[in-house]
Amino acid sequence: MEKRVVYADNSATTRVSKRALEAALPHFTEEYGNASSIYTLGMNAAKDVLAAREQVAAALGAKVSEIYFTAGGSESDNWAIRGIAEVMAKKGKKHIVTTVFEHHAVLHTCQYLEKYGFEVTYLPVDENGLITAAQVADAIRDDTALVTIMFANNEIGTIMPIAEIGAVCRERKVIFHTDAVQAVGNVDIDVKAMNIDLLSLSGHKIHAPKGVGALYVRSGINIPNLIYGGAQERNKRAGTENVPGIVGLGVAITDAVKDIEGKNKKVRAMRDRLIDGLLKIPQTRLNGDRERRLAGNVNISFRGIEGESLLLMLDMYGIMASSGSACTSGSLDPSHVLLSIGLPHETAHGSLRLSINDENTEEDVDYILEVVPIVAKKLRSMSPLWEKICRSEGIEDYTKD
Ligand SMILES: *Cc1c(COP(=O)(O)O)cnc(C)c1O
Repeated sequence: MEKRVVYADNSATTRVSKRALEAALPHFTEEYGNASSIYTLGMNAAKDVLAAREQVAAALGAKVSEIYFTAGGSESDNWAIRGIAEVMAKKGKKHIVTTVFEHHAVLHTCQYLEKYGFEVTYLPVDENGLITAAQVADAIRDDTALVTIMFANNEIGTIMPIAEIGAVCRERKVIFHTDAVQAVGNVDIDVKAMNIDLLSLSGHKIHAPKGVGALYVRSGINIPNLIYGGAQERNKRAGTENVPGIVGLGVAITDAVKDIEGKNKKVRAMRDRLIDGLLKIPQTRLNGDRERRLAGNVNISFRGIEGESLLLMLDMYGIMASSGSACTSGSLDPSHVLLSIGLPHETAHGSLRLSINDENTEEDVDYILEVVPIVAKKLRSMSPLWEKICRSEGIEDYTKD
């Protein structure tokens, strides 16, 4: 087999596109002005920041004045949740509705607010990784300050019924925030039609540079300042703008929302080939709903295998992917997302997330389908856990052939 390099971790981060890079580069060199300066070099930067703000607004169906640039998805989530919590607490509303399987930028922010007297309802998700608008409706109370529910899950790729949830929140007059970091560019989004009040997005998940993102805040919603100091971002987030990042984000999001269905068709076909192929490996399961999932998300559990070992071996074959365990945090806790859909600890440890996009090829898919069964078999042949599973459940151990 010829070794390839296959990047299949686009939910972790993406390559900066050529167009985003080319748009950003002059802002490091000739066009280095501070967007607050009054001479031409500065005004050019301000003009380009405005153009990027228009591009982000257009991509979401928002107004230009509703877009705030931030340093990324985590910052946008923190600002939205802590900001709305602060304003609503003054009105005696200290209840938040979210889900158990949000990104940690949302979960840990909610946990922080619990220390300050907020009550948080963590909606359970079903075995397919979905929630319903009815669950949200049932959870809303008179003192609900905010509903914050992710658009698409970053581990298992499931897509929530955001328009229905938005309708419920609008009817009940509750503010609705969505972490759309994984959805932008993969799902059509219209913040007005979907009744979204606040939306977080991140540049580096959509081929823009790292360290830039945006928060959409519907006009009429009062959000307090995130950073005090200068007058940037309409006085709400002080600090000299990340002009290259912002310009890159503007270009990247414009490209990302162009012909989503066309891109998805190609990506979905590759994804389905991966799912079908990997499920042929004994004792595997697909995590997350088969239909209502991001076009590029594959998440498969392998019984009797540690996710980390799988990733390390795949890396030796040139395949870059993720697993369910939060190894990056230095802990080996199984993923809260996989536990939330009812996986036992043991199975939640042995999962593989492949996140592909339109830069991947059919050859990448062939290669993954060739390598993963070899690696899985090898790891299982050395795994006491696998041996135990086979023995106790009377499964024939195919690794011993
Ligand atoms: C990546 C991600 C974030 C964090 O975005 P950063 O820009 O890396 O801070 C938040 N939410 C979801 C769903 C993500 O996938």
